Amino acid sequence: MGRIHVLSEQVANKIAAGEVVERPASVVKELLENSLDAGSTRIKIQIEAGGKKLIQISDDGCGMVRDDALLAFERHATSKIKNAEDLLNIATLGFRGEALPSIASVSRLRLETRAADEDSGTILEIAGGKIFRVEEAGLPTGTSITIRDLFFNTPARKKFLKAESTELSHIASLVTHYALAHPDKHFELHSATNAMLLAPPVAGYSDRVYQVFGKETLDQLISLAAELPLAHVGLPQPPPWRRQQHDEDQQISREPGHLRLHGFVSKPEIQKLNRNSIYTFVNGRLIRDRLIQHALTEAYRNILPPTVFPVVLLFFEMPNAEVDVNVHPSKTEVRFRQQTVMHDFLRDSVRAALMKARPVPQFVTEIRAHPTASPSLTPGARAADAVAPGRVLYGQTVPADFSLQAPAQGVINEPLHFAEAISVEANAAIPVARFPRQTFGGAVPESRHDSCTGHIPEQPESLDEDNVSLSSLKPLGQLRQSFILAVNHDGLWIIDQHVAHERVLFEKILRQRAEQQVESQRLLMPIVIELTPAQQVVFAEISGELEKNGFEAEPFGTRSLAIKLAPAGVEAGDIENMLHELLDQFAREDQALNLEQIRGRIAASIACHAAIKVNMPLEHNKMEWLLAELAKTDCPMSCPHGRPVVLRYSMKDIQRAFKRI
Ligand code: ADP
Ligand code: MG
Repeated sequence: MGRIHVLSEQVANKIAAGEVVERPASVVKELLENSLDAGSTRIKIQIEAGGKKLIQISDDGCGMVRDDALLAFERHATSKIKNAEDLLNIATLGFRGEALPSIASVSRLRLETRAADEDSGTILEIAGGKIFRVEEAGLPTGTSITIRDLFFNTPARKKFLKAESTELSHIASLVTHYALAHPDKHFELHSATNAMLLAPPVAGYSDRVYQVFGKETLDQLISLAAELPLAHVGLPQPPPWRRQQHDEDQQISREPGHLRLHGFVSKPEIQKLNRNSIYTFVNGRLIRDRLIQHALTEAYRNILPPTVFPVVLLFFEMPNAEVDVNVHPSKTEVRFRQQTVMHDFLRDSVRAALMKARPVPQFVTEIRAHPTASPSLTPGARAADAVAPGRVLYGQTVPADFSLQAPAQGVINEPLHFAEAISVEANAAIPVARFPRQTFGGAVPESRHDSCTGHIPEQPESLDEDNVSLSSLKPLGQLRQSFILAVNHDGLWIIDQHVAHERVLFEKILRQRAEQQVESQRLLMPIVIELTPAQQVVFAEISGELEKNGFEAEPFGTRSLAIKLAPAGVEAGDIENMLHELLDQFAREDQALNLEQIRGRIAASIACHAAIKVNMPLEHNKMEWLLAELAKTDCPMSCPHGRPVVLRYSMKDIQRAFKRI
């Protein structure tokens, strides 16, 4: 009847070795994964003192028969794999058979379990790795594990634990994200004082995001779904040690399967100071991976500034043989069989979703859009709220890191303003209140007269926010000869004339470059510029690409260049500056750039120097032209360096500020 067996030494030796029980959150992670592997649909977790005093997890999964319950605490005892072959095709979250014995050796553990087809269950008690009680008992189907006094017998490790609130927040973040990955299951997380997460099953992923974080958060995210048949990208290569055997047994290669991606990425106005809000799952496993991080940075290139990060919640599904999870003991790192395919598929899918959504930054959003160090996609302090079923309620700020090591940064004690807008009154009404005499000559009565509040007929707000068209904008004039004010039925828009033109030119230059038709100007007199040694190295590397972008330069003496031809639109006096800037920028780069990145940088630099400057008066038809050109771009909302191009002060915000609604 038993399903668990001890792995042979030869198989055990192939498993990435190492300690996984570092802190309460790592215990919760292992136990939660066990419950999910057991096919549970309801998982309830109770935590006291940040998990130092108590961690209890109950599930309604398959449970264990008595012999298995005992065997589960042996090293390398598992029901999930049998031989070394199985390591190449892991379908479960666990497979090492080490979590339970490791946890049991550093705590007081009580196991209650009953397999579905058994009449009675088993109670087992272990302290510091020694079993001291085994008993038969009437129990519900499933498993409940209670861990008390973690690290009671290893004082050195206990000393290194963080504050209880830090540990609790790590646990909360972890459970929240597993709940997001399994919308069809019921999750509960309780601390000694309150219910932190109550998430009954819902129909899908966006319902789960809504349930856990609320509408505002969901509104800040763009959902995406993409699929790539692996048959089109070639058959997965078996690892070298399997090649020969693989030739005889073609089973895996016959069915290459699909690479699927779905989930959410944030609109460009959401900017985070670190990567803590990036959550990626591969076949249901929460992982952290550099390849994925890199692909995401690429996807947001020229949409977000390079120093800030988006909010990401993405799920990959792929054949198990495509991903090696036996890389690190905590199983948060993986190795993809086809790294480039995976990287490019992710980058292109996210990029396409961002382009399609064409999100419009709200005026109020931008005011508070300075990057926040706020922890993650985890709600901030909401302790005052009543506990509503299906909402996450945190008693304190929750830092984001799912990494089971201590975070490098201290805990950030800032509630997350992910979705709450700064009220418009705070921005719009203050100047009026502060300078009533100047503004209204003292004639304005202090109290508001309701009779003054005439009715503004409801304008139909754009049905689909994301498809608001810039093409209907009518320019009114300039603010300080730098920002164009424009209106359409959505409200009042402010456009940064320099970055707007920069975006227009950037896309134009890339287009022209692709068609090998970049416009250039012949200079009356060649411009001679001196290069530092570092700049010379860079120049030698990118001179071919510079030429294709409208430059013609010849060596002039040993350290100088004579520029004869330059991209159109850049003033002669600015060319030297631009080249120095560009070469320095590449020189600072500490990793090799691919051609596409080099082209992007060059185009961004030319666009920046050729664009209309601020403090420049524009005639009405110039403004109209610029807005129309901007509307035609692929990404009109942010400049190539990631700064916002337009701000919108929506009709609703305006009415709200004037207390009309
Ligand atoms: P692994 O998950 O790597 O197999 P563990 O030490 O975490 O190793 O668990 C050992 C075994 O105990 C598992 O293979 C599984 O058969 C059994 N087990 C652990 N937790 C549960 C649970 N919640 N429900 C049913 N079986 C469980
Ligand atoms: Mg396990």
